[in-house]
Amino acid sequence: RAAEPGEQIRMRLYDAADLTGEEHNALLQRPIIDSEELMGRVRPIVSAVRANGDVAIREFTRKFDRVDLDDVVLRAPFPEPQLSPRVREAIDQAYSNIHKFHAAQLGGDISVETMPGVTCARFSRAIERVGLYVPGGTAVLPSSALMLGVPAQVAGCSEIVLATPPRADGSIVPEVLYVAHKVGATAIVKAGGAQAIAAMAYGTETVPKVDKICGPGNQYVTAAKMLAQNDTAAMVSIDMPAGPSEVLVIADSTSNPAYVASDLLSQAEHGPDSQVVLLAAGITDAELAAIEEQVHEQASRLPRVAIVRQSIPKSYCLRVASVAEAIKFSNAYAPEHLILHNDRANTYVKDVINAGSVFVGPYSPESCGDYASGTNHTLPTYGFSRMYSGVNTATFVKHITSQELTREGLANIGQTVMALAEVEELEAHRNAVAIRLRDL
Ligand code: NAD
Repeated sequence: RAAEPGEQIRMRLYDAADLTGEEHNALLQRPIIDSEELMGRVRPIVSAVRANGDVAIREFTRKFDRVDLDDVVLRAPFPEPQLSPRVREAIDQAYSNIHKFHAAQLGGDISVETMPGVTCARFSRAIERVGLYVPGGTAVLPSSALMLGVPAQVAGCSEIVLATPPRADGSIVPEVLYVAHKVGATAIVKAGGAQAIAAMAYGTETVPKVDKICGPGNQYVTAAKMLAQNDTAAMVSIDMPAGPSEVLVIADSTSNPAYVASDLLSQAEHGPDSQVVLLAAGITDAELAAIEEQVHEQASRLPRVAIVRQSIPKSYCLRVASVAEAIKFSNAYAPEHLILHNDRANTYVKDVINAGSVFVGPYSPESCGDYASGTNHTLPTYGFSRMYSGVNTATFVKHITSQELTREGLANIGQTVMALAEVEELEAHRNAVAIRLRDL
């Protein structure tokens, strides 16, 4: 139930000491998404775009975005956008930091002589054509364009296609246009939702087909990415499955209640389905009350208070005995964002096993990582930080291996390979070695 205007905006409160094992496990779960019903709505959109190309994109854009498109695709060079100096400088600074951090992730090529004369190497090559989805249904999101575009550019992708919902007049948000220009995008698809994903997965008369699709988006975007990935005809991969954004904050007696509340709210304002968790480690009733008071007070002053009234009552605070217990819970929850709010926060980083990105100490609000510090904000949600990384430079490359054997190398390894080929009864494999060994 959403908090009524005037009513205190507060999180549900639990004490770990009072929970049964079942209740504890329930707190680790995310809301279940009815994927069958969703797929049923998204599949016809994807099929229509595949069959009818640009005509279908125009139709869905008219229906869902209420925009009549003239051209579906804008090709580089893009028109020069009008931006205030303040916004332009902010984008330039963010671009520079994100570029620095992602450029440092390049490299890692290796060459190893596994036995004399047998040299194995691994080297990376950029994925040639990538599609980047920049959400735009309810907010202007140039930061997403940066977080996807910069690593694609750093990796060296030769075709970078951006897709984003158009504004009411059919134009592209100027801030996104500026980022598209900076990251060297080759085309912008003026469409959102499942239709944009399908267009990039299959290609249309004007939309280039890509090899990999990355980026966050609403449930229609995510469903379309999953459908495209599972269709061999599309021959496309995706970055990761995505759900609503989430944060887990660990606070203790050393935390500043106002800072803690501000971080909880910066997540809660994303949408009614945002996941917000506070782990209060060994704090007193008075310290907890101070955080609750700050949540209410700061929330009441936010322009998006209506969203926060829905998301905060769905979120919860769990009291635990110690920071160590909090970290254990956090690892089981596997949050997208983890904020460590205590004074010795950096000493706990070594204990973090599952998280998309960690914000260490009171002066590292999530907002900095969301926009400009340099790390990527496209991160695994829904518990997928157990096995997925956030978007990074490696997202846009693949690794190729090679090997080169000298005559000596083949002599050294020959008997091993032939013995194993015999076990598998693959005579042609054995012979490919034997025929050469006879000549040595
Ligand atoms: P969006 O661009 O993802 O989706 C808008 C599109 O959805 C529209 O263009 C429209 O075509 C389509 N659509 C709307 N209603 C539809 C319907 N009934 N049927 C079919 N298609 C429909 O923008 P959004 O909706 O504002 O969602 C953005 C999402 O991205 C949010 O969930 C936000 O949390 C998430 N996000 C995540 C990150 C991250 O890094 N995790 C960053 C930014 C945004």
